[in-house]
Amino acid sequence: MRTFAVTGAASGIGAATTERLRADGHRVVTIDRADADVVADLSTPAGRSSAVAGVREVTDVLHGVVPCAGVAGGTGGDGALVASVNYFGTVEVVESLRPLLAAADSASVVVVSSNSVECQPGWSRELAALIADGDEPAARAAAAATEAVHVYPASKSALRTWVRRNAPAWAADGVRLNAVAPGLVETAMATVMRADPELGVFVDAYPSAIGRPGRPEEVAAAIVWLLSDEASLVVGTTLVIDGGTDALLNP
Ligand code: NAD
Repeated sequence: MRTFAVTGAASGIGAATTERLRADGHRVVTIDRADADVVADLSTPAGRSSAVAGVREVTDVLHGVVPCAGVAGGTGGDGALVASVNYFGTVEVVESLRPLLAAADSASVVVVSSNSVECQPGWSRELAALIADGDEPAARAAAAATEAVHVYPASKSALRTWVRRNAPAWAADGVRLNAVAPGLVETAMATVMRADPELGVFVDAYPSAIGRPGRPEEVAAAIVWLLSDEASLVVGTTLVIDGGTDALLNP
């Protein structure tokens, strides 16, 4: 039995990952705004600290962390919130839990990026670089001045940058860092995106080689594999899990 922490565990991909890990006999400490072992709002530094404290209360070793908490960037949405939850709510929690991961013989972190990095046009590499620089107030100011729909892929690209920059040093501690990049997955987030008055029509316009959106348990299966020792050679990479959307759009 291993011990994992999953954020955004109350819904969607996080819930499916939690369910799968528990079915495999592991212990999972769940974190979310509600319906979780540790209730915390990861959009703020105070909420992230309280999330980490809550995990530390119940364990001093972690074999993996899966930070799934994230928000979509819809019409009229709050770009600063997208940057804070998707990037800083991931990175700050994972970095704070590093000692618990290093305490395991081998550990693995799987962050959740998105194939919007490859497939969505019009987002700013400069904003992604600014977010990845790690100055949250500066990133929030730039994100607030950007349409939230374009902040989303920038925040998800910045996560990949964080993984690549940090994977070598963390691997020296026995902790593998990787990312998954799902395409459209049938979760509450997909429902929210479809209901968007301007962007909703585009949600199902992205092509898929398999002719359907993903299911959360399909993403969870890949995450669980990346968490396992079977993926011991996989370090610092991003696994796109999108039913072939990226392959179709970027042949
Ligand atoms: P979801 O809405 O079902 O789940 C997201 C979870 O994050 C929710 O339980 C929510 O309460 C939690 N959360 C949001 N803001 C939070 C905050 N401030 N503090 C704590 N928890 C917070 O969505 P999902 O599709 O399962 O999304 C999981 C991850 O997958 C996200 O990072 C998302 O960006 C990513 N993703 C989703 C899709 C998709 O099509 N569904 C595609 C690519 C990537």
